[in-house]
Amino acid sequence: MDTESSIYVAGHRGLVGSALVRKLKALGYRHILTKTRNELDLTNPYQVDHFFEENRPQYVFLAAAKVGGIYANSKYPADFIRENLAIQTNVIHASYRFQAKKLLFLGSSCIYPKMAPQPLMEDYLLSGKLEHTNEPYAIAKIAGIKMCEAYNKQYNTNFMAVMPTNLYGPNDNFDLEHSHVLPALIRKFHEAKATGQGHVVVWGTGTPRREFLHVDDLADACIYLMDKFHAKTVGPFLNIGTGEDLPIKELAQLIRQTVGFTGNIVFDSTKPDGTPRKVLDVSKTDRLGWKASIGLKDGIEQTYRWFQEHYDQ
Ligand code: GDP
Repeated sequence: MDTESSIYVAGHRGLVGSALVRKLKALGYRHILTKTRNELDLTNPYQVDHFFEENRPQYVFLAAAKVGGIYANSKYPADFIRENLAIQTNVIHASYRFQAKKLLFLGSSCIYPKMAPQPLMEDYLLSGKLEHTNEPYAIAKIAGIKMCEAYNKQYNTNFMAVMPTNLYGPNDNFDLEHSHVLPALIRKFHEAKATGQGHVVVWGTGTPRREFLHVDDLADACIYLMDKFHAKTVGPFLNIGTGEDLPIKELAQLIRQTVGFTGNIVFDSTKPDGTPRKVLDVSKTDRLGWKASIGLKDGIEQTYRWFQEHYDQ
């Protein structure tokens, strides 16, 4: 990739896509293609083909997806499997037909079996049953990995896939019911401080452990891989994470401190804990020379500043 390359970021308004665009611009890439949903419906193969035929992107970051938390996944399972399969099938096939040099497909760590040992290694894919609450979404993402692999094998393409851990950062979803724990807690502590509440309720027991990656680190990893590696070196897909996790209780304390809330934390153990631990083995990316660099404390501070600036919206 060089600064004159034409680069298509599918899903540029989302958490990951927007981070990719910010980073590419900061690095001086001048031909970044983006299309809103109204301009280009990625579930429509004719529109996708037409876009690729006209624009012939050389590099494709496939960060467009239908995403959501446990509630949305359980309410709209058909939408989750259909839209994701359609988007990725159309974009991967068009990238092959119109000869993109490389494609990078964004997945998720929910592709791993529910009972897989921790930390999660790439090899554990398809070694057991998935968590049923987001199975349609996970199946679509697994299909994306397998599609990249199959195209590489049959058509000699250069398509890669990455599976990030829990992400956070600017443009995240801060909705209280539908978001993930980190943005939800930023909002809860912020509102508790603003309205003078005595305590904040954190779901579950506080003991489950999770890993968190700032989305700017993910963007950095994706551009690094796109720029430097061939799919043959990388293998079918790569985990992207920090390799470090912490209990939700400690996360809550860190966010309380960042927000400057002085009240108590109350754990609501009637709410589900979910899986006890989720952390990625990152030794493969490590060997390729990439490491996360944004510490959790700094990342939360930065995200909290962004949240305050955009709270009204
Ligand atoms: P998961 O990683 O797929 O389990 O997704 P979440 O990010 O939604 O939840 C992670 C953990 O944080 C679970 O143990 C939740 O019970 C806990 N948690 C604590 N407070 C909250 C909250 O306000 N929102 C969410 N989503 N999770 C919370």
